[in-house]
Amino acid sequence: MSDRVGSNNELGVVICRVCNDVLYTLPTNGYKKFYSVCTKPECSGQFKKGEVTST
Ligand SMILES: [Zn+2]
Repeated sequence: MSDRVGSNNELGVVICRVCNDVLYTLPTNGYKKFYSVCTKPECSGQFKKGEVTST
């Protein structure tokens, strides 16, 4: 397994739709923004965990 931390190809960001924290980045082809929910109780309690939607 190669460590890809620091890669310049990570242009997709996954953001918590409740608190707007950046959860992680994804290596995508072009800049993309995704919404998910972080693990904070106040956030995960409001939406189904693991659900990722694109805008
Ligand atoms: Zn959150």
